[in-house]
Amino acid sequence: MNDSISRATYDQVMIPNYVPADFIPVRGLGSRVWDQEGREYIDFAGGIAVNGLGHCHPELVDALTEQAGKLWHVSNVFTNEPVLRLARRMTELTFAERCFFCNSGAEANEAAFKLARKFASDHFGPEKNEIVACHNAFHGRTLFTVTVGGKYTEGLAPLPGGIQHIVFNDIASLEAAVTDRTCAVVIEPIQGEGGVMPADPAFIQAARDVCDRHDALLIFDEVQCGMGRTGELYAYMYYGVAPDIMTTAKALGGGFPIGGILTTERVAASFGPGTHGSTYGGNPLACAVALRALDIISRPEVLAGVRQRHDRLVAGLVALNGKHGVFKAFRGRGLLLGAVLSDAYAGRAREVVKAAERQGLMLLVAGADVVRMAPALIISEEEIAAGLSRLDAALDDLATTL
Ligand SMILES: *Cc1c(COP(=O)(O)O)cnc(C)c1O
Repeated sequence: MNDSISRATYDQVMIPNYVPADFIPVRGLGSRVWDQEGREYIDFAGGIAVNGLGHCHPELVDALTEQAGKLWHVSNVFTNEPVLRLARRMTELTFAERCFFCNSGAEANEAAFKLARKFASDHFGPEKNEIVACHNAFHGRTLFTVTVGGKYTEGLAPLPGGIQHIVFNDIASLEAAVTDRTCAVVIEPIQGEGGVMPADPAFIQAARDVCDRHDALLIFDEVQCGMGRTGELYAYMYYGVAPDIMTTAKALGGGFPIGGILTTERVAASFGPGTHGSTYGGNPLACAVALRALDIISRPEVLAGVRQRHDRLVAGLVALNGKHGVFKAFRGRGLLLGAVLSDAYAGRAREVVKAAERQGLMLLVAGADVVRMAPALIISEEEIAAGLSRLDAALDDLATTL
């Protein structure tokens, strides 16, 4: 039997819905990753905004191994200590009074949309079922969440109904769409996959107001922009507008799969026994890790550090761009950054990522024209500097191909 694993193995044994990089990471520490050949990479991708505390953070390793020797899983026929500790801490730190845990961002949004429909049906009747979402949104890949997102639904019909899309940051479009039949408006405070687009404060406030006028619930999808990413524990805190339901995942588990919804006691009451569930949801391993991640990320010095690193990274990018002229704008908040390609490089975000990989730097795209960065919230100065100098080399490389 052949024991060796290579990138070619992927094409032989995996369903081809991804196109992973040519190298295979085997080890990570902080914001550095090594591949099978021992080649080192600086990680500005952060596992798509998941590795908020970098790779193998010693406190997360401790939380996981400690729990691994105690109790892995009991199902929701029983509750467990880690899930209750995590929920209690979440309710102390956020607007929320009640939590539900699941295993991914999509599942969190699926639960949020179901809860919004159920709440509207309980209080106002079954006709109040429409969900208003934004163009260029991303809410996950279950059939319901992918339909609410609006893209990636080709070939999947029939799709769930009662979903409308408005123009992100367009208050007139929002106010025209929301009616008494709307059960929920869902917004990413910063659109991640859609190109790292922050919501305008006026748009967020208008969404709160229009939801209140029509007895609709405001849902914030903070799966990507939450958990310290913006320099606030959750992005809604920057806007000073609390949602009725918020979804969280990605950095919540620091790499251990977990998602959750946070809501008020009144809304939570619409999920009575039997209305929703998840066998693994709130599992002790996931919750023990998430509790430790939440403890660390919610520290004021960690959140202040995100804002400082933002300034450092953006200043470095602006300086690099003075030399290369590859980007025409930088957007995003905290350590969720989008570098928008200038017209000469339009559509080539993937090539920038490939060139960076050749120089030992991991980056992300957010569409064809935006290079996205979501490094660890605690990435060191030295790692930022090393990443920027590798990006410099990558952009030199790219210039030779124009
Ligand atoms: C990643 C993401 C999701 C989906 O999360 P999964 O864990 O991949 O299911 C949902 N919403 C937003 C904003 C995301 O960035």
